[in-house]
Amino acid sequence: MSENKKVVVIGGGITGLTAAYYLQKECRSQSLPVDVQLIEAGPSLGGKIKTEKREGFTIERGPDSFLERKKSATRLAEEVGLKDSLVPNGTGQSYILVKGRLHKIPQGSFMGIPTKIRPFLFSGLFTPAGKIRAAMDLFIPKKTVEEDQALGLFFKRRLGNQVVENLIEPLLSGIYAGDMDELSLQATFPMFYDLEQRYGSLIKGLRKEYPRRIPKKGEKKPSMFRTLEGGLGSLVDSIENQLESGSVLKNTKVDHIEKKESGYHLLLDDGSVREADSIVIAAPHFSAQRMLSQYDFMAPFKETNATSVANVAMAFDESAIKKDIDGTGFVVSRNSNYRITACTWTHKKWPHSTPDGKVLLRCYVGKPNDQEVVDLSDEEIVELALKDLNKIMNISDRPDFSVVTRWYDAMPQYKVGHKDRLKKVYDQMASELPGVYLAGGSYEGIGLPDCIDQGEAAVKQVLSYLKD
Ligand code: FAD
Repeated sequence: MSENKKVVVIGGGITGLTAAYYLQKECRSQSLPVDVQLIEAGPSLGGKIKTEKREGFTIERGPDSFLERKKSATRLAEEVGLKDSLVPNGTGQSYILVKGRLHKIPQGSFMGIPTKIRPFLFSGLFTPAGKIRAAMDLFIPKKTVEEDQALGLFFKRRLGNQVVENLIEPLLSGIYAGDMDELSLQATFPMFYDLEQRYGSLIKGLRKEYPRRIPKKGEKKPSMFRTLEGGLGSLVDSIENQLESGSVLKNTKVDHIEKKESGYHLLLDDGSVREADSIVIAAPHFSAQRMLSQYDFMAPFKETNATSVANVAMAFDESAIKKDIDGTGFVVSRNSNYRITACTWTHKKWPHSTPDGKVLLRCYVGKPNDQEVVDLSDEEIVELALKDLNKIMNISDRPDFSVVTRWYDAMPQYKVGHKDRLKKVYDQMASELPGVYLAGGSYEGIGLPDCIDQGEAAVKQVLSYLKD
């Protein structure tokens, strides 16, 4: 009797978990003789998803939610039995902190791009000249370019510097923790280039394709994000519980991958060797490069840097906040003299996360030009967060407790040309390492739904390879 085929998924973050889960499910339902093993370097699964429960609070140390519009995360949560635990975000006002003052994000804006005229006209975020410059997007001719371009420069050309500096940049930095003048338009928001090409204007294109209705007085804004009642860690636990018994290996790092006459050998850090017919590398790019360091085509990943970030969740009694602000949080523009980059009023955005009578504030640090902040001690990070918050909020007491989390090299920077570089790697990999696939936050999107999409795509690639 011939042996079962072996698939190894490397990395137990959300991408690897998705790949392992759907692979096992497909193999069962199609009665395919395939063994799927998930290998994770750390002591637990989830990668950047890390939920901590403390004194009645649910604290996210990594991501706190996912975009509802991209369906794969909701689908996965429902698939593993968490349909009734899905929670929409509280939809209060969100703010931008510019030159030390909080401004409401103008209603009807899409990633900072205006789709309604009135809220922009009345916003204190821009000078009259800045507003006129933004409106010129309606008339500036489209620019067709073959190659990739920088996200920041693209937006500055269409809408002017002010809208970019005071609105778009702070919003996008929250997602990519990067320098907009270096990030790739094609790898981050190709839709904006398409809109420019089809409508000759971002404002016109968004109004047509992503119309935003401004809620009437007293009407609630629709929720764009979802999380889980028990925290995102409950998604990790539910997937893990459904993986086949004995199919997960933790505390085990894949050091190296070697191609053999038939299939591959994985050299593990405990000195042992695993065989595989097909491999999904769902680990960050620098880790993938080390596993395949003998292949020159992986070299571009050595130069792809990733920003380090940290965040601190601080729990207070309600009475400690002397000047409360109605809303769910703010992001900070780079022209403000603040070290934090954003703050979520978590008890308002996610009321289920916080016991009654308490407040949970989560501040973020780690701009591309302020990487040293991540190395400060916990106390120093708490101090600088409180100092910044006190400029606008008036917090009288120390937090009841705080939880600091550092994420080193965690936000991969998709710089201009990212997609071309990736394509070259994929092409070479297909010819030199058939049956080996890359998936995850380093490659084709960092949001949780993007990672889940990539995990699902890898499942299709593996199954089609094994069936050939
Ligand atoms: P990871 O989660 O990094 O998992 C990779 C795994 O591979 C790790 O567990 C690692 O230990 C393992 N590994 C590495 N090398 C090896 C090896 N050699 N052998 C075996 N295992 C290995 N996204 C959102 O959609 N919403 C948010 O609110 C959000 N907030 C975020 C907040 C923070 C602070 C951060 C850092 C990210 C946030 N993101 C958010 C982005 C999102 O969390 C990540 O892009 C996503 O979780 C990455 O998942 P992944 O599985 O690709 O990688």
